[in-house]
Amino acid sequence: MCGAMTPEEFRIHGKQMVDWIADYWENIEQFPVKSQVSPGWVRDQLSPVPPESPETYNEIMRDVDSAILPGITHWQHPGFHAYFNSGGSAPSVLGDLLSSGFSIQGMMWATSPAATELETLVLDWLVELLDLPQHFLSSTAGGGVIQDSASSATLTAILAAREQVTNGSVNREGLGSQKLTAYASAHAHSSIEKGLRIAGMGSASLRLIPVDEHYALDATALREAIEADIAAGHLPSIVVANVGTTSSTAIDPVADIGAICKEFGVWLHVDAALAGTAALVPEMRWIHDGVELADSYVFNPHKWMLTSFDASCLWVKDRNALIGAFKITPEYLQNAATDSGGVIDYRDWQVQMGRRFRALKLWFVIRTYGASGLRTFVEEHLRLTRLLASWVSESADFSLAAPHPVNLVCFKHNGGDAANRTIMDRINADGKSYLTHTVLSGDVVLRAAIGGERTLQRHIEQLWAQLEAAAAELP
Ligand code: PLP
Repeated sequence: MCGAMTPEEFRIHGKQMVDWIADYWENIEQFPVKSQVSPGWVRDQLSPVPPESPETYNEIMRDVDSAILPGITHWQHPGFHAYFNSGGSAPSVLGDLLSSGFSIQGMMWATSPAATELETLVLDWLVELLDLPQHFLSSTAGGGVIQDSASSATLTAILAAREQVTNGSVNREGLGSQKLTAYASAHAHSSIEKGLRIAGMGSASLRLIPVDEHYALDATALREAIEADIAAGHLPSIVVANVGTTSSTAIDPVADIGAICKEFGVWLHVDAALAGTAALVPEMRWIHDGVELADSYVFNPHKWMLTSFDASCLWVKDRNALIGAFKITPEYLQNAATDSGGVIDYRDWQVQMGRRFRALKLWFVIRTYGASGLRTFVEEHLRLTRLLASWVSESADFSLAAPHPVNLVCFKHNGGDAANRTIMDRINADGKSYLTHTVLSGDVVLRAAIGGERTLQRHIEQLWAQLEAAAAELP
């Protein structure tokens, strides 16, 4: 007996697994949103050594119930408001299941034409759905690619940017004496600094530009920083503008930033990881003002567009810079389709060679909800965000700590940092809702992200009642 699962056994256990997941979703509100286990607890429940003999599906699932489930923080719980949301949905899981069933490597068109062609189609659909610039369409010199995360997409943009600004010399010969610099707001995501480290440019190459009173990048300060660097013999290579910062969803002035980038020949990358999904709704398209000036743009359907991790969409205006940075073709990857020049090989658009068939889950999601269903979902979250923000602004105890352009409310109790931490800890221990914090203008601020498929008005009412109760219990 070698333990291999026959197709017949897979049919049985596959149906059991789908039932298990459907039950989990149906009963998710019975679990505390945030896992309550202490460090080491999960491992202590499990066999410290791998099994010598095959084990059954039921034996494995017993451990899922007793050891794994208690160690899960339920990102799809309707009371999950921490960090950013996890965009799971049933059609997304089905698309992912099919992708695992195929288990293909979609690194080149030749290794599975459907993987490449569906990815290109879905990315073209998204250009239309989000009303992104037409030069991101695959029929132009630009185009899109699905990556694992915004962090990878930003690293990709950093490498493409330096390909462009150095005419390929750094990617081929190394940094040498080139002193490349990069720019982002002081509120930009840490993935930019990480990308610069990986690219060999180092943290020191990053200029953190001050923000205005709404936590958006100060374009005048950006211009001054670029001018100072040029005067000092540096080569400005990339500016990363935020459409929705992690802390507060601040929207940088992308049009002003884009004009500066054009003037100085600097690559503009737009990071809309969370907030980009809002542009499904016409009234929110303003968040993309100026994106037509961007050389690259990323958003994460796995945050707010009902798609399970991982699915991060990156578009570039000119695919040549990207391919120039990444393309290396050893003999064993040579094939006629690539040689014809008539196909896309996505391995040349990313760091890894191998790639999952991620387009399937996006295709399932977009087809199942339809554009109208996706819009309805986003509109409801925007409404709930405004509702919570209105209660905060009318409250005597709490106040808004930042604008709430999309689906995140940043607010604070007027009692100061310790009071806010106490309120957050109380709510998170209760298990019905889960909040995290940030620091804005030196103050501890609570964040409520509203983007889960199951989050309804009653969950926001419950959160507000919990906040008021926790505030009333403060010493
Ligand atoms: N950029 C922004 C604005 C984010 O909010 C985040 C995650 O919160 C990231 C990048 C990183 O996303 P990922 O986990 O896809 O790398």
